[in-house]
Amino acid sequence: MLRQRAVEVDVAEIATPGFQALVARMVEVMRAAPGVGLAAPQLGVGKRVFVVEDTEERMAKLTAAERAERGRVPVPLRVLVNPVVTPLGEPRAVFFEGCLSVAGFSALVPRHDEVEVRGLDERGQPVAWRVRGWPARIVQHELDHLDGTLYVDRMLTRSFGTTAHNAERFGGQPIAAVRAALGL
Ligand code: ZN
Repeated sequence: MLRQRAVEVDVAEIATPGFQALVARMVEVMRAAPGVGLAAPQLGVGKRVFVVEDTEERMAKLTAAERAERGRVPVPLRVLVNPVVTPLGEPRAVFFEGCLSVAGFSALVPRHDEVEVRGLDERGQPVAWRVRGWPARIVQHELDHLDGTLYVDRMLTRSFGTTAHNAERFGGQPIAAVRAALGL
């Protein structure tokens, strides 16, 4: 399922108890992990829907400098159905990324710094959401899941390692220093 393209959700399906239960379960699993995003294929459901949420609690271990470098800010819960993501501008940010479906590992992944997401919310209402920094990274990661793509397909392979190893070796260092150390 993680390697297949998920199918568009029929708009009439959004209000059904079955679809609403899927969304509720996605939010539940994301929060329990804890994670900052989850796509339906990660639960074995091949539908184009993902959820995103980031909170102060989930970024509590980061220093102010680390938050600033990542562009990490709290994001209230968002449900995106049939999302279309458009990159805005050229800049690409490189940072460590992990995935609940590739548990225990991390790697540097380049992502667009700013994107616009269009789609429907959990009530079937149109959504246009412009995001940058960490939330933009989450959105691109989750959209990839809907297309059967995992971060390991986009990562800078020399940076791939266990989350524990990468945290121990590179924790607290600016990304420029990490790249220099890895010869990237
Ligand atoms: Zn993932």
